[in-house]
Amino acid sequence: MENQLSCDVVIVGAGPAGSTTALMLGELGYDVIIVDKHDFPRVKICGEGLTSDVWRQFKKMPGNIYDHFLALDDKLPINGIRLGYDCSNPVQFDLCENVRIYTCERTVFDHFMLNEALQYPNVQFIKGLVEKVENKGGAIVITNTHTINAKIVVGADGAMSRVARELGLQSRKTGLMHLGVRQYFKNADLKQEGSYLEILAPKPTIPGYFWLFPMTDNRVNAGMGMSSHHIKKYDISLRDRFNQIITAEPGVADRFGRATALGPLQGQMIPMLVKPAKRSTDCAILVGDAATTANFSTGEGIGPAIRSGRFAAAQIDQSLRQNRFDAGFLAQYDKKLFDATGNENRKFYLIQRFLSHEYFVKKMMKNLKYDVELHQFLQQKLSNVEFSDKIINFKMLFRLFR
Ligand SMILES: Cc1cc2nc3c(=O)[nH]c(=O)nc-3n(C[C@H](O)[C@H](O)[C@H](O)COP(=O)(O)OP(=O)(O)OC[C@H]3O[C@@H](n4cnc5c(N)ncnc54)[C@H](O)[C@@H]3O)c2cc1C
Repeated sequence: MENQLSCDVVIVGAGPAGSTTALMLGELGYDVIIVDKHDFPRVKICGEGLTSDVWRQFKKMPGNIYDHFLALDDKLPINGIRLGYDCSNPVQFDLCENVRIYTCERTVFDHFMLNEALQYPNVQFIKGLVEKVENKGGAIVITNTHTINAKIVVGADGAMSRVARELGLQSRKTGLMHLGVRQYFKNADLKQEGSYLEILAPKPTIPGYFWLFPMTDNRVNAGMGMSSHHIKKYDISLRDRFNQIITAEPGVADRFGRATALGPLQGQMIPMLVKPAKRSTDCAILVGDAATTANFSTGEGIGPAIRSGRFAAAQIDQSLRQNRFDAGFLAQYDKKLFDATGNENRKFYLIQRFLSHEYFVKKMMKNLKYDVELHQFLQQKLSNVEFSDKIINFKMLFRLFR
């Protein structure tokens, strides 16, 4: 058949998880095909906050990706984070100089990452909608235009992963879902000196949260997130809540008085990992949102997606060297992924449970404001680029909510 292709590894999805896996395997010299249903650059609904976790991951990757990103124009450096129940008076955390947090439109960031992977001549991109995946005696990926044969398939196809569904790895059922919505505005008055990521939880947002992230060109990315469990339980419309906040909430509405919306409010699911689940099977591995790697409390998924891509590439390297593609061998990847972030996510899950109650949101904000030691502890953790992934300890949890 004319449209038959073959390679060592076929990756479905060219978001940060897929591009990272492709880049790492490209560096190792393997033949990789990365397939996405969209041409790039493409839009991805997101808050577009790139936290220090992204830089930690970049520093562990080959190809000077860290320096290349620093040279990219369309990104806004961020000075710190502001958290608030009272939106007029949030608690501010400043980052120290060597910490880098940015906002960067995903259209730009994801295209940048794909191009970093495509610098390797053995990595090829094709546009195609994946419709069928088989994993018997190798991987077969069937798109609307091609049939691709490989030794292994990587499912990097996001929250509603087709690969996970086709191979019976229904990761969404083992994790939990958040719904996030976001909208761009121009000329909102952020009332900030410097550029801060604001995460606000006034009464109408609870049991979720609202964010205001400044972007380049005097734009802002405003959005809301909430667990689908709460949305269903309380029959909540995120759209209505979002509109209520930007038009009527004290400390927020006044910032949008002169703002112009740059497009519609759009939403997408964020799957979350809380307990160990199968993220690989015969001849297949899931990464990023497809593997439910995002942080349960914050919805931060870009850094975790990149980390999972790194881990997957290391596992696939071992598989290709030893010619072992069975589920038992690939399960080492599941364990490594869970060991790296699973327990931490459990603690974030606990925090999330507390923060779905107004009482604890108020307590936390009060403690962050008046407990100087707690404030310093968090400030230090946020400001340390090299700190391990383990940032939450139980002593700190107690101090947050006592
Ligand atoms: C509203 C919202 C706000 C968020 N804010 C932040 C934030 O501020 N910071 C942060 O770190 N994270 C944030 N996240 C999470 C973050 O966006 C994701 O965790 C991250 O994009 C996961 O990357 P990925 O590569 O796994 O998947 P994706 O980026 O979703 O990429 C998946 C790719 O697969 C392709 N694809 C899907 N199906 C197919 C198919 N059948 N055939 C071919 N291709 C296919 C898609 O076109 C897409 O390009 C947010 C998420 C949402 C929804």
